[in-house]
Amino acid sequence: MSDDPETARQIAELASDDRPLLVLDVDEVVLEFVQPFMRYLESIDLELGLATFSLFQNVVRRSDRQKVEPSEVAEHLDTFFAVQAEWQTAAADAAETIARLSRNAEIVMLTAMPHRHRPVRRAHLDALGFPYPLLTTEMPKGPAILKLRGPDKRPVAFVDDIPKNLLSVRDFVADAHLVNLMSYGAMRAVMPPLPADIAVADDWKTAAPSIEKALGI
Ligand SMILES: [Mg+2]
Repeated sequence: MSDDPETARQIAELASDDRPLLVLDVDEVVLEFVQPFMRYLESIDLELGLATFSLFQNVVRRSDRQKVEPSEVAEHLDTFFAVQAEWQTAAADAAETIARLSRNAEIVMLTAMPHRHRPVRRAHLDALGFPYPLLTTEMPKGPAILKLRGPDKRPVAFVDDIPKNLLSVRDFVADAHLVNLMSYGAMRAVMPPLPADIAVADDWKTAAPSIEKALGI
């Protein structure tokens, strides 16, 4: 099992909670990501296209339309995460809907980004009305959610925009209710097809009923 030791350390710090568990990705689920990242790239003369479901393969320089190497895109993404508070806003209806769900479920945010960006993201999420625990991981999400669930078979729901993350969770927590939520709907056109048992939602208003049903809340 691939297991991120720093994520495991963060999980060990959480207060124990035996309520149904709702785990949320951050980018494209709690916070807008694709559109703010596009605007950030434009500010440095770059452009993200949507030819395929990849951030790293679809960036060109606006001045000469030359492709930007994936390694350079990764550097820009890292800088973007450092200044995310200047660019990223809350996803529509996320704050109100998650606050309602939090009355009867444990909410944990699990974001795949370098651990060093955790304090910046923590502060920004607090400022936007998301006071729930935030975990970072640099490895697959499935093992983290298995650990978060704890020894009892409490109901689990997981929301993410990236199919790979949803499938990782299914591998480790087979009965988790999985929801594909993507704030920036245009990305869906180039996304690989999802297995039929993964719920699809374009916004929080659509996502909430199946989560409440799965968690029994
Ligand atoms: Mg995401």
